[in-house]
Amino acid sequence: MDYFLNEQQKTLRSLTREIAEKRIRPVRAELDEKEEFPWDIIKDLAASDLFRIFVPEQYDGLGGGCLDLCVVVEELSRVCSAVAVSYAAVDLGIIPLVEFGSHEQKQKYLPDIAAGKKLAAFALTEPSAGSDAGAIKTTAQKVEGGYVLNGTKQFITNGGEAELYTVIALTDKTRGARGASALLVEKGMPGFTFGKKEKKLGIRASATRELVFKDCFVPESNRLSKEGMGFIIIMKLFDKSRPGIGAQAVGVAQGALEAAVEYAKGRVQFGHPIIAIQAVQHMLADMATQVEAARSLVYATARTVDSGAKNVSQESAMAKVFASDVAMKVTIDAIQVMGGAGYMRDYPAEKMMRDAKITQIYEGTNQVLRNVIGQELWKRKFE
Ligand SMILES: Cc1cc2nc3c(=O)[nH]c(=O)nc-3n(C[C@H](O)[C@H](O)[C@H](O)COP(=O)(O)OP(=O)(O)OC[C@H]3O[C@@H](n4cnc5c(N)ncnc54)[C@H](O)[C@@H]3O)c2cc1C
Repeated sequence: MDYFLNEQQKTLRSLTREIAEKRIRPVRAELDEKEEFPWDIIKDLAASDLFRIFVPEQYDGLGGGCLDLCVVVEELSRVCSAVAVSYAAVDLGIIPLVEFGSHEQKQKYLPDIAAGKKLAAFALTEPSAGSDAGAIKTTAQKVEGGYVLNGTKQFITNGGEAELYTVIALTDKTRGARGASALLVEKGMPGFTFGKKEKKLGIRASATRELVFKDCFVPESNRLSKEGMGFIIIMKLFDKSRPGIGAQAVGVAQGALEAAVEYAKGRVQFGHPIIAIQAVQHMLADMATQVEAARSLVYATARTVDSGAKNVSQESAMAKVFASDVAMKVTIDAIQVMGGAGYMRDYPAEKMMRDAKITQIYEGTNQVLRNVIGQELWKRKFE
C-alpha cells in the first residue's frame, strides 16, 4: 500500500530501517535477555539526528510532526519495541514542554534533547492512581520561589535513565484534578531519587522505574503554564502521543508477520513448505490485512493530528485501541504459524508477543480508551 509519505518521511523510514537492521536486530535478543537499557543504540539514534524530529526548529530540532514520529517508531518497533518505546518516551516527556512551555524553558532544555544528549520522561502514574489518574497524591506545595514536591510515581518509562521529567503533581489538594500542575524536574535535584526498577513481561530492555520525591525543591520557573493546568496538559499530550503507541503496535505486528511468512516459506511438512497449506495462508492473509488496516488508521490519525485539528481524542483512542489489539492478535498468530519453533526464544515471535501486550495497557488501557470512544459517540449528533 502506498501511504504517500513525503520525502522527509521516506528518508526517516529508510534511515531508521538501516539502524534497526544493522544495529538493533543483531542484539535485540541479548538486550531482552539481560534487560539492559539500549544506551549504545540510543547514541546511534542521536547521531542520526532522530531525536531532533519532535523538537521545533527554533530549538535545534527538525520540527517534525506526529506522522514523522510514527514512521520512526514503527520501524524501530518492527525490530525491537523496547528500543522504540525508550525513544518514543522522550517525545512523551517533552510534548508538554513544546506545547505549553515558555521560550526560556524551551531554550534551556530542548537543544540537549534534540541532540540526544539527554533523555526525557513523563510521570503521571502512582501506586494508587493508574486509570484513575485524578486520584494522584503527589503534592507540590507552594513555597518561596517554587514548590516542594512529595510523593511517588510508578512505572515510569525511561525512569533513572532520563535527565528531564515532566511530573504531574497537586499544587492545590482541595481542587482534585483541577488542582494539578506540570513541573519540569531534573535528575539530581536534591530530594529526587529512583526506587524500584520493574522486571517486566516484555519491552524488557526499556527502563520502567519508580520516581521518589522527598521534599524536592522545584523552582517556580520550572512550572509549565499556569497552576491547575495539569490535566489539560495531559489530555493534549495523550491526543498527540497515542498514535505513537499505535505505530509501536503496527511495527511489532509487521515484524511478527514477516517472521511468520519467512518461517512458513522455509518449513517443510508433508513434502512442501507449510505456506502452501491453505489454512496457513489464510492465517497469514488475515494477519497482513489487519496490519495494513491498523497502519492506515494510525497514519490517518497522525495526519489529522498534524493538520492541527482541535479535538482528536476519539481518533487517537481508536488508533491506539485498534492497532494494539491487532498487534496482540498478529503476534500470537505468528507463534501459531511457526508451531513449536515460534514458542522458542531462538525465534523472535515470542518476544514480539510479550512486547505487543503493553500496547494494550499504557497511555490508557484499551478498556478506558473504549470508554473515551463511547463517550464521544454519546455526545455526537449524526447528520
Ligand atoms: C511498562 C509500563 C510503562 C509505563 N510507562 C508509564 C510512563 O512513562 N508514565 C506514566 O505516567 N505511566 C506509565 N505507565 C502506567 C500506565 O499508563 C498504567 O499502567 C495504565 O494507565 C493502567 O493503570 P494501572 O496499571 O494502574 O491499571 P488499573 O487502573 O488498576 O486497571 C486495572 C484494570 O481495570 C480496568 N479499569 C480500570 N478503570 C476502568 C474503567 N473506568 N473502565 C474500564 N476498565 C477499567 C483496566 O482497564 C485494567 O484492565 C506504564 C505502565 C507500564 C506497565
